[in-house]
Amino acid sequence: MTAVKSHGADIVELSLERLDLAFEPGDCMALYSEEGRVSRPYSLAAGTADADLRFLIRRMAGGDVSPFLCSRKPGDVVRVSPPFGWFRPGAQAAQRPFVFMATGTGIAPFFAYLRSPDAVRPAALWYGCRVASDLVDPEWLRDRGGARFAVSREMAAGCHHGRITDCLDQLPQGEFDYYLCGLDSMIDEVTRHLQTQRVPLTRIHRECFFNAPIGP
Ligand SMILES: Cc1cc2nc3c(=O)[nH]c(=O)nc-3n(C[C@H](O)[C@H](O)[C@H](O)COP(=O)(O)OP(=O)(O)OC[C@H]3O[C@@H](n4cnc5c(N)ncnc54)[C@H](O)[C@@H]3O)c2cc1C
Repeated sequence: MTAVKSHGADIVELSLERLDLAFEPGDCMALYSEEGRVSRPYSLAAGTADADLRFLIRRMAGGDVSPFLCSRKPGDVVRVSPPFGWFRPGAQAAQRPFVFMATGTGIAPFFAYLRSPDAVRPAALWYGCRVASDLVDPEWLRDRGGARFAVSREMAAGCHHGRITDCLDQLPQGEFDYYLCGLDSMIDEVTRHLQTQRVPLTRIHRECFFNAPIGP
């Protein structure tokens, strides 16, 4: 571990030595718990030319892996898998403009894309969080990706008060690819909306991090 940085109360950015690993934007790596028995996938948030690997981890109370990762310190060692993945934000940029939509740490693969050489600016980038302090590097995302923000649990300057799914009528329409990452409910709602707009499923690219718990 080369660096640890907090974003708000529950999101921690971990930087790890890269060790010459090759990866593509959208790749994940499995990160292991303390005893090395349990692992979870985490999306790389680093650009492909960056010196370090970088991850954004949400601390999930009672979780097997994320509380361990969120309590790491520089100099600690964490067991990881090789990179893997199928989600490829911006991969069709040469054919069509594209849109990014993220909730929470679902912004990680979009950082990986935007931080990589030759990245193309998205036609729109919507990023939603519960509280403004959870937003990771919003100024950089606004400058580099034209990001717009939604914060659901408080009023925040310059952010829509609510969910990014409130803003679907502001999405660019036409010949676009749409990349959705984060909570399943956001991904499902945006997908349904795009389908009503006759966007083919082949242009809706989805990476689901979290399934919202089903209530009684
Ligand atoms: C492809 C992929 C990429 C991912 N990338 C990232 C990433 O970059 N950053 C990141 O932080 N996570 C990412 N995740 C999620 C991550 O893999 C783990 O699922 C997460 O960190 C929880 O693991 P845990 O072992 O701490 O918790 P677990 O032991 O798996 O579960 C902990 C508790 O959380 C509860 N829970 C599950 N979902 C929710 C929810 N939505 N709200 C509240 N409670 C819930 C569970 O019921 C359980 O009680 C990714 C997941 C996938 C599939």
